Amino acid sequence: MTAKFLDGKTLAAKIKKELAQKIDADDGEDMPVLAVVSVGEDSASQVYVRNKRKAAAEVGIGCEVLNFSDSIGENALRSSVHELNDNHHIHGIIVQLPLPRHLNPDVILQEISPIKDADGFTVKNAGLLAKNEAAAVVAATPKGILCLLENEGIELAGKHAVIIGRSNIVGRPLAMLLLNHHCTVTIAHSKTKNLQDLTRQADILIAACGQAKMVKKDWVKSGAVVIDVGMNRDENDKLCGDVDFDDVKDVAGYITPVPGGVGPMTVAMLLENTWEIYLQQKEKGTSCSCGGHGHCCWHHH
Ligand code: NDP
Repeated sequence: MTAKFLDGKTLAAKIKKELAQKIDADDGEDMPVLAVVSVGEDSASQVYVRNKRKAAAEVGIGCEVLNFSDSIGENALRSSVHELNDNHHIHGIIVQLPLPRHLNPDVILQEISPIKDADGFTVKNAGLLAKNEAAAVVAATPKGILCLLENEGIELAGKHAVIIGRSNIVGRPLAMLLLNHHCTVTIAHSKTKNLQDLTRQADILIAACGQAKMVKKDWVKSGAVVIDVGMNRDENDKLCGDVDFDDVKDVAGYITPVPGGVGPMTVAMLLENTWEIYLQQKEKGTSCSCGGHGHCCWHHH
């Protein structure tokens, strides 16, 4: 068997094109604007930020990148996020991860107003997702994976999904999202025993563990859907996933490539989230973090 390719690049391009049309047709006097908070000089992060800015421009979303030196303190960074929360020209806010060691991402991310939380990483949005509430802003990578699966017409109800990884940005929200779509979900992590026994039971196997080419052919059930979230460098400094693509492609039913699979979907979903929260703020009549209920913003409540 040769696995069918799940082409995230093409699907993301289609989604962005449709989004651009919706944004173009919007009658609002302001455009949606995403603020990207970036700290330090991490070279991979700089590439990701550049890609997000470029993708935002393609669809008609404004993107303001705030670059801070890696010597910035926690309080100063928190204040900057508060200013963005109160700035009615800004609709979405993300903090590019990883942050330098001295800054705790859990503290900084929680400062983002949930209505401007384009990445869906605040406790409020993670909680809404865990409760299967439609109002949740869903983290971009899990949302992109769901979109890839649904676009391919892959049935989810009753399927056993095994996720390798339990991070707050991929593994956990993905587990909730797939559970909400009636999968039976197993979450594996670095302390999991007999990992391969679990992965071999998966109808849908998602690798999000940051271990280059860890998942091999004999980890995968014949015909399984294999989603590779990993973005690693191999021994030749070439970009590769957590799945050994060449090995696994002959046994899987579907497989995502790296690059060109989950990565472009993540960016497309970030833009979609920004558009959705922009619309919500427009509907409420304010983009201030008070959500239209306070006395702090430009709008007359
Ligand atoms: P983290 O490092 O935060 O989490 C990795 C998870 O994998 C942890 O839960 C860890 O377990 C688990 N893990 C690590 N090693 C093993 C192992 N040998 N066996 C089983 N489980 C293991 O990573 P992220 O979730 O942030 O990212 C995961 C990967 O996805 C990375 O390669 C990252 O670059 C990529 N990524 C790609 C995105 C995209 O758009 N394509 C977006 C975000 C991330 P434990 O909790 O026990 O430590």
